[in-house]
Amino acid sequence: MKVLVFLESDEGRIKKSSLEATSYAAEIARETVAMVFGELDLSELNKVGSAGAKKILHVTDSNFDQSNIMAVSTAIAQVFEIENFELMVMAKSSLADSVSARVSIKVDASVASNVTNLPDMANGFTVIRSIYTGKAFARTKLTSKKKILTIRKNTVPILENGSDPEVELFQPNLKSSDTAVKVLSQEKSSGDILLPEADIVVSGGRGLKGPENWGMVEDLAGALSAATGCSKPVSDMDWRPHHEHVGQTGVKVSPVLYVAVGISGAIQHLAGVNSSKFILVINKDPEAPFFKAADYGIVGDAFDVLPKLTKAINAAQG
Ligand SMILES: Cc1cc2nc3c(=O)[nH]c(=O)nc-3n(C[C@H](O)[C@H](O)[C@H](O)COP(=O)(O)OP(=O)(O)OC[C@H]3O[C@@H](n4cnc5c(N)ncnc54)[C@H](O)[C@@H]3O)c2cc1C
Repeated sequence: MKVLVFLESDEGRIKKSSLEATSYAAEIARETVAMVFGELDLSELNKVGSAGAKKILHVTDSNFDQSNIMAVSTAIAQVFEIENFELMVMAKSSLADSVSARVSIKVDASVASNVTNLPDMANGFTVIRSIYTGKAFARTKLTSKKKILTIRKNTVPILENGSDPEVELFQPNLKSSDTAVKVLSQEKSSGDILLPEADIVVSGGRGLKGPENWGMVEDLAGALSAATGCSKPVSDMDWRPHHEHVGQTGVKVSPVLYVAVGISGAIQHLAGVNSSKFILVINKDPEAPFFKAADYGIVGDAFDVLPKLTKAINAAQG
């Protein structure tokens, strides 16, 4: 089987979740073809090859913006049809939700979103999907000839044994309706490590008492090369910027490690973190609900624990 992968990039870098989607495809495909939009260095394209893609279709047209959902969907649908793909995968994201829905209509494919395992192809094509913000799983059988999957982060490790891919420029054939909406400018949150993409997140809650105490959180995040997050009340009170608010009504994160400091673990907060691989909870209340969702827990006062933890991590790193 030949599988198409839609890659997302940010500021000239392929997103980690898209490299995971590439490796997911490589696990099941005879040939993995990736499709990417915008200016990217060869070193970035080679990462996609290393993750398992044999070939990359690169759309470099400067009028073509990755965030133009209509145009991206049209371009992907053209490749789907021209190269006779039957399966496409992409990392689950808000862009992927919109693109997968539009492409599925254009090419008459079925879609399974938030997939958490490799497909079982022994008897048809069945996948497991994370549903109800991670509180349940659904076994889903796709019976149509063409299929599209969006893959939850951390579903497969990124392969590193592939070779440099063949890169081919692709010029989509757009209609005027595809470019009827234009993104004129974007304002993005600052910071070196983007919260939704971070491998490690250190998040603080109301237990930290006030914005003047966030230095402890930033020090720990710095020691771990982590992004910082917070609970909703913390951003509502302007202790931290709104783009750091994690949860059902904020950013959904899927890091390898989520460190929650002084956060109670309300269901709305957990909805944004429960696809993390490991969760470490630091809370002075042993009955805090977050401990039920934790892989590791420290019962203690954050003001005592955080400086010691940061010091120990810095010492361990030399
Ligand atoms: C519709 C709706 C949507 C919502 N969406 C979100 C969302 O997306 N994200 C979100 O976070 N919340 C959301 N909420 C709010 C959510 O219900 C909780 O109120 C919120 O998550 C609690 O934030 P917190 O844990 O920081 O504060 P608290 O509930 O006040 O918990 C503070 C914790 O800190 C601990 N603590 C106190 N002092 C210390 C100390 N010195 N050291 C260590 N621990 C200490 C306490 O034991 C406690 O567990 C939503 C609510 C509603 C109704």
